[in-house]
Amino acid sequence: MSFTKFKSKIEEGDLVMAYLSRTHIKPIIVKKGDTLNTRFGTFPHDSMIGLSYGSQLLTPKGRGFIYLLYPTPELWTLSLPHRTQIVYTPDSSYIVQRMGVIPGSRVIEAGTGSGSFTPAFVRPIAPTGKLFTYEFHKERYEQALSEFKQHGLQEYLVCTNRDVCADGFDITGAQIDAEAVFLDLPSPWEAIPHLKSVITHKTEARICCFSPCVEQVLKTVTALQENGWTKIEMTEVSSLLWESRKVMVRELDDAIARLKDVKKRQLEGIEFMKKMAVKYGSNKQAKIRKPRSKNRDRGFNPFGKGFHIIEGDENYDWFDVSKEQKEIKTHTSYLTFAIYVPQLVVKDQIIPKQDDQGDERKPDCQ
Ligand code: SAH
Repeated sequence: MSFTKFKSKIEEGDLVMAYLSRTHIKPIIVKKGDTLNTRFGTFPHDSMIGLSYGSQLLTPKGRGFIYLLYPTPELWTLSLPHRTQIVYTPDSSYIVQRMGVIPGSRVIEAGTGSGSFTPAFVRPIAPTGKLFTYEFHKERYEQALSEFKQHGLQEYLVCTNRDVCADGFDITGAQIDAEAVFLDLPSPWEAIPHLKSVITHKTEARICCFSPCVEQVLKTVTALQENGWTKIEMTEVSSLLWESRKVMVRELDDAIARLKDVKKRQLEGIEFMKKMAVKYGSNKQAKIRKPRSKNRDRGFNPFGKGFHIIEGDENYDWFDVSKEQKEIKTHTSYLTFAIYVPQLVVKDQIIPKQDDQGDERKPDCQ
């Protein structure tokens, strides 16, 4: 099992994504003798071993089922244990593409946080690239490191417990030479001055800083300009989920009948409240003091929901609609991108950097 390669059969020690529903995916490490307890039933891990990824697994009693999915960075982001705010796929996919992260790329990430973005960096850089990820919170660092080992990511990354704002990114004995830098830190402007010694000076290097507040963006832009970064641009990714569903066709007569019903219920409710007021003294008391007997007559509930009709019920007419829904699982932040163009020396002549020409230095913040 690995985020970077595919295999078809589940083996002991694998990370499997147990898919219960669209909003509930549980990552498990398969271990003989263990069980997965869900609201659909109990699933012994032994029954998973040898199955193909993607299989549907029934409970021993055959009442409930789950799907056993192959781990991907996208599923990991949806299911991981949160220790911090995390980066979601709408942002990570755009950032990876925008920073040109490809097989062989060398990338810096700080902080590691819950390790949501880490597999999404490792997948494109494998098998020859390297990710240098930094986290200053000791427990988060240890937790992330143990997950990276369990998930077979350690051969593609170096995870360091370090405050990068105070102590920078240099690692003794390692030539980092990063082409891409991703900073998800509260104060990226304090880390930016430390980057010069660890980014590549052979080609251009790209950076993305992920910040929820525009005040952070302003400080980041200033630090980028002061440290020789150019083509500064701020972007925000806004993701929309489209949902398709059925809406009941309602006749005018139905609407009139419904209005009459509401009116009737209201009158009954008012009568009920009046009765309670007589019994308990006032409307306010009637609400607070309820009869205690278990077998009490609860009376008519004017605010009750009535009976529930399941979407698509054959006894009613329906039509299909599609509507957009704001994607909930995305923590929107401002993405500040920039590039660093090294000065090239050709036959003792210094080729000017791009930002020395024209007005390229102006950030495109909007
Ligand atoms: N991108 C991560 C979330 C990062 S949250 C993910 O998708 O899971 C920010 C992390 O940066 C936190 O874990 C915090 O402890 C760490 N951090 C904050 N300041 C830091 C610093 N100066 N050096 C290293 N890590 C830092």
